Formats: sequence, structure tokens, C-alpha cells
Amino acid sequence: MAQEDVFKKIIAHSKEYGFIFQSSELYDGLSAVYDYGQYGSELKNNIKKYWWDSMVKLNENIVGIDAAIFMHPTVWKASGHVGAFNDPLIDNKDSKKRYRADVLIEEHLEKIEAKISKEIEKASAKFGDAFDEAQFRATNQRVIANQEKIDHIKKRFVSALETDNLAEVKQLIEDCEIVCPVSGSKNWTDVRQFNLMFETKLGSVSEDASSIYLRPETAQGIFVNYLNVQKSGRMKIPFGIAQIGKAFRNEIVARQFIFRMREFEQMEMQFFVRPGEELEWFAKWKETRLRWHHALGFDTKKYRFHDHDKLAHYANAATDIEFEFPIGFKEVEGIHSRTDFDLSQHQEYSGKKIQYFDPELNKNYIPYVIETSIGLDRMFLLILSNAYDEETIEQDGKTDTRVVLRIPPELAPVKLAVLPLLRKDGLPEKAREILNDLKFDVNCIYEEKDSIGKRYRRQDAIGTPYCITVDHDTLTDNKVTLRDRDTMQQERIPVDKVKEIVLGKTSMTNLLKKIER
Ligand code: ATP
Repeated sequence: MAQEDVFKKIIAHSKEYGFIFQSSELYDGLSAVYDYGQYGSELKNNIKKYWWDSMVKLNENIVGIDAAIFMHPTVWKASGHVGAFNDPLIDNKDSKKRYRADVLIEEHLEKIEAKISKEIEKASAKFGDAFDEAQFRATNQRVIANQEKIDHIKKRFVSALETDNLAEVKQLIEDCEIVCPVSGSKNWTDVRQFNLMFETKLGSVSEDASSIYLRPETAQGIFVNYLNVQKSGRMKIPFGIAQIGKAFRNEIVARQFIFRMREFEQMEMQFFVRPGEELEWFAKWKETRLRWHHALGFDTKKYRFHDHDKLAHYANAATDIEFEFPIGFKEVEGIHSRTDFDLSQHQEYSGKKIQYFDPELNKNYIPYVIETSIGLDRMFLLILSNAYDEETIEQDGKTDTRVVLRIPPELAPVKLAVLPLLRKDGLPEKAREILNDLKFDVNCIYEEKDSIGKRYRRQDAIGTPYCITVDHDTLTDNKVTLRDRDTMQQERIPVDKVKEIVLGKTSMTNLLKKIER
């Protein structure tokens, strides 16, 4: 199936099965804003718990906070967001469509890169085991020419961004002959900067009201609480502060479902370290975060690091963890070495000392910071992209297909479906009795409508790892049929074994142990 079709199917499936709905759909929707439905919110909560526990539970020196979305407006001056949280935008005069100029150039570069990959694939298929990619890259004329093109464009692009030279960004778009995907024309406006922060008013009387912003990242809530947490928690460097919360960005282009939203959620951790030790910690956090991703058991080839070509002015190292979504390799998480930029800025703008006394070094300093920042919604999309499967099955001599969400059992929205075979003969009562006993420890669902086969399919479609069926024999032998989502195998087990089996496969501890080495 083409990847674009997979993406469309995931969007349709998310709606049909109560994972994600367009916000305000009743009123034709609000662009790039989404609501999570009954199963979506469970999955989201489980992802949050996996992240939170991996930070706060597994690390003695990481604590969590929950800061307010509204903050003093000076915070955003200090952080640089008022002055520089911009994206360069450009419009096509014919289609009237708006684009991010940097994204147009990046997509152009990806196309050239794809040409190189194709040459490599062809040659690799031709030469088999004898193929030497490095040598091929160094000698094949077409690859060399395309690589030179990429290097040249990147150099101009980075230098234009660094010097804020928007005319040069436009020139680059023209020189690369980039066309609007809708109109097909090269009739572009000038490039302009657009600030992504949402502004609103605080206070009821308009003359007294002051402008404040909806936070565009959760990180600043951590920085301004650095001293509070360090002092009240008697934290010693190195230590971290974690937070999960909403962030808001007035994105210029937001057409990729929950990949790019205007209201989204971030899971961020700022790790405070001694100056000079930051790059060592940066390397450690890169590795730890990749382990967190890999523990989910998806194909490791779908993950890669992408080091930033252009570092933000405050960073001395930065990388993204990219994942191969059906829409291509895209950022899911950023890991940044932010130096002492943020704390220094807040010290300067607030006029209050933000320093740490290091008893081992016997001196004061402003800590350096390593940040790990992952989008909860992008992580959600990553899981759905991996989990969605249309499987062909042979049953009773017939070929059939089923849609199954192979969500890691630990994150599945529902862990167990309890199904009475019939809606009579005391089977529903027995099923409810079992459910009422399990519901304190296991997230269960009860379903009695439709045939058992249909009910299994419905559970497959929402990713429930196990179903148990209560039949007439259950009333006498106290056993149920346990059905496994992935293998579709069924086995008869005593009712009092259900909890142990289900928890054994779905407990978050399984995942956490995989990242703890
Ligand atoms: P992008 O380059 O995709 O715009 P970014 O580099 O601006 O992302 P960061 O500021 O590093 O993103 O934010 C950290 C994480 O927050 C990202 O890795 C991403 O997972 C998530 N994120 C950022 N913007 C959005 C958005 N508009 N919608 C959903 N998630 C987002």
C-alpha cells in the first residue's frame, strides 16, 4: 500500500474508532486543532505515563512539575520568543496558498537526496554483496553532482537564515526553481517573518489589561521555577525537572493531521549540569532517549538522529530524533544543549540571582542545560503509524482481512475485553462479575452486542491485547477462553489466572525495565 494511502487510512480509522476527532467538527472544524476521543485519550495518558515514569520514577535526580500556561509577559522577552520566535512565510500569488519558506527549501533538498538514494539502491541491487556505498558516492558522477547541489543550497540557506536575509531566502527559492504544488507556478511574494505566539489579554478592564501569550513551549515554566525546585527539593547538580503540558503555536502551515497542530502537548525535561560537562550529558541523553523509543519494539531502522545544520544562537549542540512516518522521516523529538542561555536571560531580566553553589567545586555558577523535548501528539502518531496493520487471514478455508492496531500492549487503551458468548443464560452476569473483580487493576471493557467474531474484530481495531469469552462451561468450570490480539490464538484458562496473564503482558514495568540497563 502506498504510504500516502496508509496515512489517509490512519486518519479515517482514528475517527471511526474514537481516537481522534477534528475540533469543533459540528461547525466544520477548526484548522490544525484536534480532540482526542475515548480511546485516544487513554492511549495519550499511557504515553504520558510511560514518559513520566521513565523520567521521574527511574531517576532519583529528576522531579516533575506542572507550571501554568499563562506566564508573565517578560518571560517571553527574556527567552527571545517575542523577538525571534518566527517562521519565514511566503505566498504563491496564483494559488493564494501560504508556505513556510524554509520548508519549501528543505523539501527541495529531500527530493535531491531521494535521487541519490535511488542511484544507490539501483547500484546496490546490481552489485550485491560487492557493493561499496562510500566508494560509489565518491565516484559516481550523478551522485557527486547532486551532492554538490545539496551542499551548495544548504550553505546559502544556512547563511541566509543566520543573517536573517529574507531576500536571499526568496532568491534561493527562485534559483532552485521551486514551484507551488497547487498552482505549479513560480509566482512568489516576498518572504516575511511571522511570529508564532498567540497573544491575548489578561485583566477585565481593557485599559488595565496587559498582553500575555499562550506559551509556545513548556520549557520556560521549568526555567523560571529552577530556583524554587532546587531549593525546596534540595536538589544537587546534576538534576532534572520534567513537565508535560500544552503548548500553542500559530503554525503557518498545518496540514498534516496531528503532526503539526496549533494546540499541542509537549513532554520536556531540562537537565541542569556543571558548565563544561554539558556535551557529555548531551551524548548520554541522546542514547537514553533513543532507548526509550526502541523499547517500544518498532523497527529500529525507522529511527535516526538528524544533527542541526544551523544551531540556535543559545545552543552548542542539537539533534532531532527523526522517525519514518508514512509522510517520510520527520522530527519527533529534539535534544538540545542550551548552555546557560535561558537561566542567564532570566537572571538578567528579573534582576534576581539564579545561581547554584557547588559544594564540591566550592563556587557559584549558572548551570548549563540539556533539554529533551518530545511532542506527545507526534509520539501518538508514531505509534498509530506503526500499529496500523491490514492483515490477510485464512479462516475455515476462506480468505479474509482484518484491521489490527498492534499498539504495544503496555500502551494499549484497553487491556482486556470481557465478552459473554450470549446475552442470556446468566452469561452476562458472570462476565460482569469477572470484570468487577478485575477493573481495579486492569482497564477492561464489556461488550455483549454482535457475534463473537465481530466483537473480536472490533477489539483488534482498537488494539486490545486480550479478550476473554464467558460461555456456558464457565458457569461450571470457572474457566474462560482467552484470545490473543496478535496471534489470534485461543486458550482455555481459569478465571483466577486472567489478571496475572494480562498484567504480565501489559504492565508498564515491562517497558521501563527495557530502558533501565
Ligand atoms: P518543527 O521543526 O517540526 O516545527 P520544532 O523544531 O519547532 O519542530 P521544538 O520547538 O524543538 O520543535 O519542539 C519540540 C517538539 O515539540 C518537537 O520535536 C515536536 O515533537 C513537538 N512539536 C513542535 N511543534 C509542534 C506542532 N505544531 N504540533 C505538534 N507537535 C509539535
